[in-house]
Order: sequence, then structure tokens, then C-alpha cells
Amino acid sequence: MLARLPVILFHELFGRNIKVVYAMKTFTVRTRGRCEFVDITAAVQDAVKALDINNGVVTVFVPHTTAAVTINENADPDVISDMIRTLERLVPRSGDYAHSEGNADAHVKASLIGSSVRVPVGNGALKLGTWQGIFFCEFDGPRQREVWVS
Ligand code: ZN
Repeated sequence: MLARLPVILFHELFGRNIKVVYAMKTFTVRTRGRCEFVDITAAVQDAVKALDINNGVVTVFVPHTTAAVTINENADPDVISDMIRTLERLVPRSGDYAHSEGNADAHVKASLIGSSVRVPVGNGALKLGTWQGIFFCEFDGPRQREVWVS
């Protein structure tokens, strides 16, 4: 039961003898296109369950330089299409880039979107808004990718 106490209460009870337990669960995402958003909400929820987190905050982290993670609407697929089309317009695949691997646009897009999101958890469930989903953002696929939840 002690592991479920809020950190501040744990601190008050035990003073300097604080032990913070850090746990992580990973899963893979197989992308099929060069630029693709994959709804990973259910997989993140499974990770939260496996980590036995009831109340708190989880970080969803993508350990890649040409992929990202974001939260957006998962009800109307046109929203994701608009996201991809807008990113392609803002950061076209070919342009005035120095990086010689041919995926400079993917690196730029990955940093624009970001490599992590934090999501509250209540009663073991991700606390997302009604229309929100968590999306893995592939910018240089298709590839096998990883997501870390901690
Ligand atoms: Zn590169």
C-alpha cells in the first residue's frame, strides 16, 4: 500500500528515506507509410494497467529522432489527415536541407511535434478528453518503432 501513497505524504511520513519507484513498460508500433499517425491510446492504457498505476501521471515517450507523439482528436479521421497535410506543406520532404540522409524533413517534423506527452491517470484509466487520443507520429517510415510508458 505504501507505493500508492502520494509522494508528499510519503515524504512527511518517512523524512529523508524516500524511495521513488520508477517503472517503465514498452511496446512496439509497426508503421506502414512514410508519414503516418497511429492511434496508440489502447496500447498506452494497457501499459498503465501493466504498471499497476491507479492515480498519477504517465509519460509517453518516443525514443526516435524521426518520429514523435501527440494528443489530438481521434473521432474524425480528417483531423489527422489535416495534421499530416499541414506538416507536409510546412516542412516538405525535399528542400534546402544540409542533413545528407534524405530524411531532414522527418527530423524537423519530429521536433516540431515533440518526443513525449504526459497524461493524467485516475482510477487506473487514462484521463483524456472526450475527443482526445494519443497518436504515434511516424515521419520516416515504414519502420518498427518503440514507445516507452513510465
Ligand atoms: Zn537522419
